[in-house]
Amino acid sequence: MSKVKVEYIWMDGHEPTQKLRSKTKIISGEVNSLSDLPNWGFDGSSTNQAAGEDSDCMLKPVYYILDPIRGGDNLLVMCEVMNADESVHKSNTRAHLRSVAEKYADQESWFGIEQEYTFFQGRVPLGWPEGGYPAPQGPFYCGVGADEVYGRDIVEDHLELCIDAGLEISGINAEVMPGQWEYQVGPLGPLDVADQLWLSRWLLYRISEDYGVSATLHPKPVKGDWNGAGAHMNFSTKAMRTTGGLKVIEAACDALAKKHDEHIAIYGAHNEERLTGLHETCSIKEFRYGVSDRGASIRIPMTTANDGYGYLEDRRPSANMDPYKVCAALIETTCG
Ligand code: ADP
Ligand code: MN
Ligand code: MN
Ligand code: MN
Repeated sequence: MSKVKVEYIWMDGHEPTQKLRSKTKIISGEVNSLSDLPNWGFDGSSTNQAAGEDSDCMLKPVYYILDPIRGGDNLLVMCEVMNADESVHKSNTRAHLRSVAEKYADQESWFGIEQEYTFFQGRVPLGWPEGGYPAPQGPFYCGVGADEVYGRDIVEDHLELCIDAGLEISGINAEVMPGQWEYQVGPLGPLDVADQLWLSRWLLYRISEDYGVSATLHPKPVKGDWNGAGAHMNFSTKAMRTTGGLKVIEAACDALAKKHDEHIAIYGAHNEERLTGLHETCSIKEFRYGVSDRGASIRIPMTTANDGYGYLEDRRPSANMDPYKVCAALIETTCG
């Protein structure tokens, strides 16, 4: 019987930001649906998810894609972490989004996530001189040339892997700080976009490994006059996308204004280092929205304002945010 390598991927209990872990299970025979992928276990005492004397946690496969690195029939599978009795483990943030997505399914929410990240080689961003700084920011955003962008070969590999895996990646660009890049996933429904974002992050870390480079999602990887790394959430409901939608978007912004602190609390650790009011951000202490305003908390894109319907861009989430939490919060605040 043929053997399939299945990479079981899950979020650990690392604080303040959960990280990805994975291990490989060999399965005999074909995998045609999730039910062909058995639950599995791991040592939660090594991932900050259990105590040593009661260490077993359960991995429940919830979303799988082709493994574009191993190729063939091999798979990558995102898992939810469960307790031994199959109840939801406290580190499992997907379970809440599952119920929120179901409750508000009739509103047909879509998300497009802009994932920014920074390559590091050793202690410095990729391409930066050891112990020094490159030229000031300005030429690097969407730049071209060996003196402007660093790591394009990895970025191109990652893009190709995401497409081969069937992920809904919608674009890439070099960012404002040298060594920093972005890709976008979506638009997709809440569970799909969040599962795909986690899997695309795993592919990013994994392919960077082959280059001896690490990709980091820290919101402010270099202190000082350098752009931070965010994860803008482009969000719409069916009502926002149809005639008269701009009014619905403005009402959503008013609802988000009232819940600013609650949202900031789950928009990523160390985000206060990034949301300073400089570098195309709004201060973490303020909430503002506006058309085309990249210094606002929420930007209403020009096309949306012109058409009278479309989507909003929540610019507050940091690169290291958990999309399960952020998607759930956006739906709960604006769809209730
Ligand atoms: P920016 O101009 O902020 O850099 P990007 O082009 O990087 O914007 O990202 C915009 C994202 O918004 C894309 O992922 C796109 O798929 C997504 N998007 C477009 N329309 C919608 C919509 N109606 N609802 C949600 N997301 C959307
Ligand atoms: Mn972008
Ligand atoms: Mn960007
Ligand atoms: Mn953006």
